[in-house]
Amino acid sequence: MSTVDRDRPNPSTDPAWEIVIGLEVHCELRTATKLFCGCRNSFGEEPNTSVCPVCLGLPGSLPVLNRTAVDYAMRIGTALHCRVQPSQFHRKNYFYPDMPKDYQISQYDVPINADGWLDLPDGGRIGIIRAHLEEDTGKTTHVGGGGRIHDAAHSLVDYNRAGVPLVEIVSAPDIRSAEEARAYVDELRAILVATGASDGKMEEGSLRVDANVSVRPAGSTDFGTRCEIKNMNSLRSLGRAIEYEAARQMALISEGGTVAQETRHWDEGGGRTGSMRSKEEAYDYRYFPEPDLVPLEPSEDWVAAVATSLPRLPADRRAAVAEASGLPAGSDAVATVVRLGLDHLVDAVVSAAGPPDAPSVAVRRLANEVAADPEAAASLDPASFARLVGMEAGGALTAAQARTVLKAIMDRGGEPEAIASELGFEAMDVSDLEAVVEEIISAHPDEWSRFEAGEDKLTGFFIGKVKAATDGKADLKAASSILRNRR
Ligand code: ADP
Ligand code: MG
Ligand code: ZN
Repeated sequence: MSTVDRDRPNPSTDPAWEIVIGLEVHCELRTATKLFCGCRNSFGEEPNTSVCPVCLGLPGSLPVLNRTAVDYAMRIGTALHCRVQPSQFHRKNYFYPDMPKDYQISQYDVPINADGWLDLPDGGRIGIIRAHLEEDTGKTTHVGGGGRIHDAAHSLVDYNRAGVPLVEIVSAPDIRSAEEARAYVDELRAILVATGASDGKMEEGSLRVDANVSVRPAGSTDFGTRCEIKNMNSLRSLGRAIEYEAARQMALISEGGTVAQETRHWDEGGGRTGSMRSKEEAYDYRYFPEPDLVPLEPSEDWVAAVATSLPRLPADRRAAVAEASGLPAGSDAVATVVRLGLDHLVDAVVSAAGPPDAPSVAVRRLANEVAADPEAAASLDPASFARLVGMEAGGALTAAQARTVLKAIMDRGGEPEAIASELGFEAMDVSDLEAVVEEIISAHPDEWSRFEAGEDKLTGFFIGKVKAATDGKADLKAASSILRNRR
């Protein structure tokens, strides 16, 4: 049962505190085979069918590095503006049944990618400390009880995942709220998918997020003691876990206590974090260089080829849409268009070279009507969309009429001009519109003289009359310019 403790400070609104968050994201690479052997890298197969002496850690077996995994890791590092550098594999020693070798081959003091950053849609920049290569562990399932080891009757282990290539992306402690943490993961996922290195599926465990959370009094520059939270498997639980943990730490400190540095487990059903173990230190792992693998030194040509083969990334695409439309790159509309992959429709409007504000009209229609119906959006014909937007931006259709025609095109296809005339949306002649405006002015002399004297808010009054008098067929932008010129 989930409970809400009303005495706890609310971390998202309490101005006396600041939350500090650093995220560690494990990303499974979508290679055909595992990192150090030729076993299939696939999800959802019969347990223990994709295993061999190497990934089972049998004596005498030797790892052979997967070239594609290295390529993908470099793609990720480059997309995150990291320095791609010569690196070295290390053994990280610990015992756990899901890791048959009793050590994980990872990277330690010299990771393949270091010192980059990620730009959030709202303009914030989050530092990336490192993005290193390592192998995944197998997967244990605790049977009976609540699914955790403590109350389980027995445990099952599946080694299909053991040895699957991972890139672990470690952010700087630059994130300041649960919402920003979600935005970071969302953007990171979009980047990972764009590089082709990952399918980004959080629900299948391709993307797993650990959150380091600490709190400090607002204005302080020292960091507080952090806890690392594990086991969040959706963006929603990531946000909830951070809010819960921050509130817990604030309450603890307010009562004169201190936060113990530890690893905590997120309990989705209970809506709380619980202590799992005290934090390991690096020396607990007895890191030493992996003697069976030579240092990894990608050639300059390879690093350069990776950089030139990357597609345009979401931040660049947002900048392009912003530039074309004149809307801010940080606006929700621009972010929505790029997130849903609708920017080719903006490009179509730009190439159609219609009225100057056509691209901004396009972004508005895409972020509202088109975004609301992603299925229809996928089959929307760019040329028809561009002509429709041209009609709206040029004043041949009112905004309301354009929305109706757009909906018709999305529902059943067709030419915007034909649909508009079928619906009786004939463009109103400018001289007809002028005549309507004149009539309204003479019917409301008091309002008109106040408007003439500078009472601008009366624009709305006159526009409302124009709308009513023309059954919504008038181009209201044109009507307001007639009003302005007449004054
Ligand atoms: P470790 O190797 O012990 O896990 P790191 O220094 O590599 O420690 O940091 C791991 C993660 O913890 C990083 O994402 C980092 O940004 C974050 N982090 C470090 N200090 C803090 C802090 N005081 N509060 C919140 N996050 C932190
Ligand atoms: Mg860590
Ligand atoms: Zn294998």
